[in-house]
Amino acid sequence: MPGGFGSARDQSSCPCGGRSYGLCCGPLHRGQRRADTAEQLMRSRYSAFARREVDYLIATHPQPGLSESERRLALGQACRQTRWLGLTVLAVSGGGPRDLEGTVQFEARYRGGVLKETSLFARKGDCLTGPWLYVRSLE
Ligand SMILES: [Zn+2]
Repeated sequence: MPGGFGSARDQSSCPCGGRSYGLCCGPLHRGQRRADTAEQLMRSRYSAFARREVDYLIATHPQPGLSESERRLALGQACRQTRWLGLTVLAVSGGGPRDLEGTVQFEARYRGGVLKETSLFARKGDCLTGPWLYVRSLE
């Protein structure tokens, strides 16, 4: 039997603009696949905001100064308050399979406005086998 829980949502288009959620950001959110590039991580974080995947947002952005419960609360509120409508990646620098760092400039549309940001990403542990993490906004 085809289907199963979540399969209909998996076949709908990905919030980041990719094909289907189940082939795009879904496997990253479920921990089945890692982002190969900084751009993939950026897209998957945008989708995580759109789909309220708070665990994924916490796992991909270290904030040592804040407790997990504080972050969970803040991210939950942020996800509820903003309705994301679409993402456009404007420029990418570095952030490839052989890079330790990279930046992604993007425009994220939400109901009521547009967020324009250049994000800095780096690999965990500063080595090529480390997963990509969001470091901070450069603007
Ligand atoms: Zn996606």
